[in-house]
Amino acid sequence: MKIAIYPGTFDPVTNGHLDILERALKLFDRVVVTIARNSAKNPLFSEEERLELLREATKKYGAVDVDSFQGLLVDYVRTRKATAIVRGLRAMTDFEFELQMALMNRKLDERVETVFLMPNERYTYLSSNIVREIARLGGDVRNFVPPVVRKALAAKNRGTSR
Ligand code: ADP
Repeated sequence: MKIAIYPGTFDPVTNGHLDILERALKLFDRVVVTIARNSAKNPLFSEEERLELLREATKKYGAVDVDSFQGLLVDYVRTRKATAIVRGLRAMTDFEFELQMALMNRKLDERVETVFLMPNERYTYLSSNIVREIARLGGDVRNFVPPVVRKALAAKNRGTSR
């Protein structure tokens, strides 16, 4: 059984994340999508909300688990009995940071491989950040996120504009 970990902030999950997940599912028997809890970022959606959105958005795939973790990613990889970390590469701008992370994780545990997957070109400009910004400014995000995320963004923005 080949298990991969797909870590991220997922604030919120986008169609770009799902594109990478679908590609990973072709290579691995199971993929664990996991929220890194100790991120320095100040997320729009709480951890519980992000987990729920991920569960909804990924329930159509059979071999996906949704989880969150704290601490070192390589430790989490071991506890899940996984052999690989999956990350998405959109553009050269992702590369430097991702290379540094991958090589550092290898230093911490040389048994863990990082696998980079490229999304469909139509998602190369897509990020959670830009989706949050478009939604905040009242734009239509239906082409960028699953329906459940569109609704959650609309509800958040109604909440903050009051
Ligand atoms: P992080 O804060 O760890 O970058 P993100 O949730 O932003 O977390 O992203 C998680 C992973 O998904 C990263 O590897 C990121 O490069 C990748 N990713 C995010 N958006 C896209 C996209 N549109 N296409 C491909 N990969 C993506």
